[in-house]
Amino acid sequence: MSNLYIVATPIGNLEDITLRALRILKEVDLILCEDTRETRKLINKYEINKPLLSYHEHSDLNKVSYIVEQLKNGKNLALVSDAGTPGISDPGNRLIELLINKYQVVINIIPIPGPSALISALSISGMPTDKFIFYGFLPHKKGKETILKEIIENEYVSVFYESTHRIIKTLEKLKALGFNRGIVVCRELTKKFESIYCGKVDEILDQIKPEEVKGEFVVIVEGR
Ligand code: SAM
Repeated sequence: MSNLYIVATPIGNLEDITLRALRILKEVDLILCEDTRETRKLINKYEINKPLLSYHEHSDLNKVSYIVEQLKNGKNLALVSDAGTPGISDPGNRLIELLINKYQVVINIIPIPGPSALISALSISGMPTDKFIFYGFLPHKKGKETILKEIIENEYVSVFYESTHRIIKTLEKLKALGFNRGIVVCRELTKKFESIYCGKVDEILDQIKPEEVKGEFVVIVEGR
């Protein structure tokens, strides 16, 4: 039976990859990735000489059929994302769901664990982590305020991903909605400009300088 390995890769620092992940990437017949340019940086560093095939949010069902065919022909595949653990708020999730539910391919789907921005951020937050609610990316416009209100009311810690373009607006919105508990904002984890901002929303808005509103963010919000 073919294997599809779901391989976690670094969220920034290319040293954050497990020995098992490197071995699997060297052994498989084909590596599925989001953006071949991103994954090439990783495989070049580790001298992994395997073909790459992109699978991203706009990939159509023809691409999925091709992947199914490869698996049915006995090929072993690895799925990676641009960063972190595939399937967590990225297109890998849809691919895995299609393979299991729509195509019902009989294969082994094997996790190769490693970094995830969500878990890295939670691990340093100092907030209770025994129960938390993960929202992935918040909706951009419609529905965002409703979700933020829900987050404010949550008994448990809430975690979400946020982009450069929206981080300040989201924090300002939380402030406008009267949120007054603690927040941890993690920026560019494991990268050169890694920054962690902790405190009340006001304090964080003061801490983040305009030139620092760049990069990737995880936001952790204290529960009630
Ligand atoms: N599957 C990935 C994982 O397990 O971390 C997440 C993929 S999601 C498409 C990408 C989002 O994760 C970014 O927009 C950002 O919110 C967050 N993220 C990824 N890398 C990050 C990093 N180094 N520092 C902070 N946030 C990061």
